Amino acid sequence: MASAPLSFQRDVDSLIRGKKDKSKIREPENPIRYAYMKLLREKDETRRVLPVDPYVEVYTLRKGIYGIYEESLDGMGDVWLFLIEGPEKGLLIDTGFGIGDLKGLCETLLGGKPYFVVNTHCHPDHALGNNQFDKVYCHEFEVPKLQKNMTPKAWDRLFDENGKGVAYDMTRDDMIPYRPYEIVGMPDGAVFDLGGGHEIELVFLPGHSSGHCGFLDKKNRIFFPGDDCCVGAVAVGAGPPNAPYAEYGTVEALYHELLKIIARESEFESLFPSHGPLETGPAMLSSVAEACKAVLDNPSGYDYRNESPFGVRLGKMIYESGYLLYTSRSVYMDREAAIN
Ligand SMILES: [Zn+2]
Repeated sequence: MASAPLSFQRDVDSLIRGKKDKSKIREPENPIRYAYMKLLREKDETRRVLPVDPYVEVYTLRKGIYGIYEESLDGMGDVWLFLIEGPEKGLLIDTGFGIGDLKGLCETLLGGKPYFVVNTHCHPDHALGNNQFDKVYCHEFEVPKLQKNMTPKAWDRLFDENGKGVAYDMTRDDMIPYRPYEIVGMPDGAVFDLGGGHEIELVFLPGHSSGHCGFLDKKNRIFFPGDDCCVGAVAVGAGPPNAPYAEYGTVEALYHELLKIIARESEFESLFPSHGPLETGPAMLSSVAEACKAVLDNPSGYDYRNESPFGVRLGKMIYESGYLLYTSRSVYMDREAAIN
């Protein structure tokens, strides 16, 4: 087999200090995400890099809503973090990998206002920067996994034996020194009050992870669905069968919770997912739900099958979006009912 064609080595005019090591990464982003991000990053006039944190690009998405774009440090997908400014407080959704002074950036953008820090879920691209903050909120089912990751060893997978980044030109000196922090688990429907009637609601939306959640900004009429409604791929991951709440890392659990947020579609106009294109419409939630229903009705009716060293991954097409990715054990909440 020839090595990856050069066409996979997709360049973007980046303002970020670090650079991806293109010799080491796999096909970096799916083509739709790449096309969207290249045009956004090279043409959006709000794009800027602040001296306090040169590792991320900041976009002004609305008045008082910032998209903070961090390139992947592990060769997987680049990630969006979001900062919302309310009258009295702010709220930061996710903390990235932990490179650069994200805390200093939030303080600068919010002009010193206090702010909540929340996680959509525990994965490295969303939560390895938690150590920069004193207290981080998440859905209560995600607490055990975040606690397990609360160690500087969680960064080991980003570096080789010589201390160089596995997929990014960096060393451990680029990371903010590790320290423990407080994790606060919250129930579905918990509200974060930013003052003046500006409330952000935690919406339980498991599937990608068992305690994954989205955040609903009713004032700005935006739903942030995390990784459970991204253009390109929505991956439902179950984890080990004996992991806490593993039954929620399933297509069935995602489907049930999607129906609840779809019933509230009059409360928001846009989705801002954590990877790839932003400002997708609420209809995408219905498209993901339709794909979930099709999988639940016939788990063997997949459109895509990929065998890798990590197992067999199946894919069901999502209308106008990409694939719902699942495995034989991440379909039903009764996980003994594995499909063939
Ligand atoms: Zn992610």
